[in-house]
Amino acid sequence: MNNEKIIVFTDLDGTLLDHSTYSYSEAEDALRLLKEKRVPLILCSSKSRVEIEVYRERLSNNEPFISENGGAIFIPELYKGLKCEFDKIDNGYLVIEIGSEYKTLIDAFEQLKRNTGANIKSITEFTVDEIVELTGLNKEEASLAQKRKYTLPFIVNGGEEHVKNIKNEILSLGLNYTEGARFVHLMGGNDKGKAVKVLVDIFKKNYPETRIITIGLGDSLNDLPMLEAVDRAFLVKKESGNYEERIKTEGLIYADGIGPVGWNKAVLGLFSR
Ligand SMILES: [Mg+2]
Repeated sequence: MNNEKIIVFTDLDGTLLDHSTYSYSEAEDALRLLKEKRVPLILCSSKSRVEIEVYRERLSNNEPFISENGGAIFIPELYKGLKCEFDKIDNGYLVIEIGSEYKTLIDAFEQLKRNTGANIKSITEFTVDEIVELTGLNKEEASLAQKRKYTLPFIVNGGEEHVKNIKNEILSLGLNYTEGARFVHLMGGNDKGKAVKVLVDIFKKNYPETRIITIGLGDSLNDLPMLEAVDRAFLVKKESGNYEERIKTEGLIYADGIGPVGWNKAVLGLFSR
């Protein structure tokens, strides 16, 4: 009897997905191996629910997932008979909400503009064409990216000094922020790590006899709490070929490759010994 279960948590943009093309083709071998081994692959992204659903479908992934930097956890109803507490049932998912109410964030963002006078623009204020230009997403994907519920990604037009001001102001409003590869994310008390811990706890309670080993893969600062929350953390290289230098955590493993290339090697390596 095998009493060990591996669960893989992964970031999408710049990690499983190439930063520019959003392709995961370089990671196909490892993705196939995870399927063969029946290892749950949990997508844990700053993307919105509807954006992640597109990738779940492409990947034929039926696992729970975490949206908007830990803003919410979505567990398919009837998923492996898993029992847990949840906030609501929506669209066939048990939803556990960790992030702030969206209206709180919208109000805070307006206040942020007034208080700092900074030139900032949220993802919902850009046109779809502008988001396409900014991100390289196609039009459909860009409009899905605007469907936020728990976090508000925005762009700062200005230098480091502006960014610092804005960050201080966010904290003084009692909110929080993190950084992905393109956007700063305004959010409440959620982060990827908190959501990962809640979900791992649910797995552990439902499988008390099983030793659960958690793997995490990320590339950017917003992945740090997730990488701290897992048993084995992998950092992939950014598009520039460098690792995010602000990510430091005990036992961090530097995956040898940019985005999905590093992802593929890291995941294949898990099963090679
Ligand atoms: Mg990323």
